[in-house]
Amino acid sequence: MLLLKNGTVVTGDGKTIMEKASVIIKGDRIAEVTDCLDPSVENYAAEVFDCAGKAILPGMINHHQHGVVFGPVFASGAKPYERQRVMELLDRNLLQGHTTVMNVDGFATMDEVRETQKAHPIRIKTATTHTPVNFEAAFRCDGAGLEEKHQAMTVEKMLEEGAICIGEVGGGHTLGGGGQDYLYIPRAVKKATGRDIDYLQARAMKLSVLGRYMEESYYDRDRVAQALKEHGLDGFLTPEQTREIVLQTTMASVKVALEAYREAAELARKLNVPLLIHNAPTSMKTVHEVAQMGVQRLIAAHSNYLFTTEEAVENTKKLRQYPGVIIDAAVHDPFGAKRLVTVPDNLFAFFKEGLADVISTDFAAGSFDSMLEAMQHGVERKLIGLAEAVALGTKNVAGAIPGIAPNLGLLQKGYTADVIITAYPEISKVEAIFIGGRLVARDGRRVS
Ligand SMILES: [Zn+2]
Repeated sequence: MLLLKNGTVVTGDGKTIMEKASVIIKGDRIAEVTDCLDPSVENYAAEVFDCAGKAILPGMINHHQHGVVFGPVFASGAKPYERQRVMELLDRNLLQGHTTVMNVDGFATMDEVRETQKAHPIRIKTATTHTPVNFEAAFRCDGAGLEEKHQAMTVEKMLEEGAICIGEVGGGHTLGGGGQDYLYIPRAVKKATGRDIDYLQARAMKLSVLGRYMEESYYDRDRVAQALKEHGLDGFLTPEQTREIVLQTTMASVKVALEAYREAAELARKLNVPLLIHNAPTSMKTVHEVAQMGVQRLIAAHSNYLFTTEEAVENTKKLRQYPGVIIDAAVHDPFGAKRLVTVPDNLFAFFKEGLADVISTDFAAGSFDSMLEAMQHGVERKLIGLAEAVALGTKNVAGAIPGIAPNLGLLQKGYTADVIITAYPEISKVEAIFIGGRLVARDGRRVS
């Protein structure tokens, strides 16, 4: 028996905070959560953790992560990361207080997931995107990590073997994001004109032809001519040529990627499985369309990402009206690296307006900040209450995706003992982590 005594217990139910409370763990279960501990209990405990001045929380459930399985990465089916990189990403998750992580690189096989689980104590869950159109979208932009075994896999088979969600459908690579800017557009320009251009010039071409929402109807000759001039491209590219290049390099894969949303939605509805989709300006319209297709649980991933704050708030309010829609707000990296997302304004707006049903970290090129850090800042700024914030990463996630964390996400008698001890009120400082009642990390270090 383990005794975590005398801390501030946040149970994860969205309401309950108990001061000077204790959690008793027996085997892999929570035996008791109480604020009037029988003093004799201490005599029987194998180990006592004095939590005075600390918080005791359920382990966080991070339902949106990339690169945490020895398998293909991203919606583009890119080559797997080196084993060591995967282990680093799993460690980063665990030490941030995430005791469960869902891999949303949907092309991995269950064998690859099980292989990874053998190497790490964090609970690894997985989503699947093994559908014909998703494969096609991947191959249109990359697909280098997709071997025969991946291509032979289906959503149905994955679900049978333990996958719990369809997703992540769509992503930056397949939806006209970075890949087009760095690679595909410059390559096409080189072929057509013999000239080298950089990614900023490529991005300007793309945005002038398709706009932020990637629409063919956005094209306006004068606008493109102006952009070519501004970016020093007018000497060797005409607006017509630019339009042609952008449509071929970008729109071709975007169209397929968006078709994959509809295909996945039909499958999710038929199989009654949660569906997780990439929600950003490029896919916004399709997300609305899919939200009306009757999917029982539709997770609109990182609904705060790449939109302006007003746009994100407005779009999310509309999206929430459809039954079954679950709004995810992603943390990204606005507190630490500040590379992908430099300020947390959109996340804070979601806290303030109560727009998020769940939160997750997303990837941010591996520099993601923790869910607890987002919660801590939201609470410090009085945008959200502590109990409510913690539920966004625990009970609410377990409810949104049945199967991701059965019997987890709450500090309650009979629940499985995934428990963390943190500083208080600085809950992002994680001091001890228990998974299934076993101490797996302490003071920023993995111990098993
Ligand atoms: Zn995404």
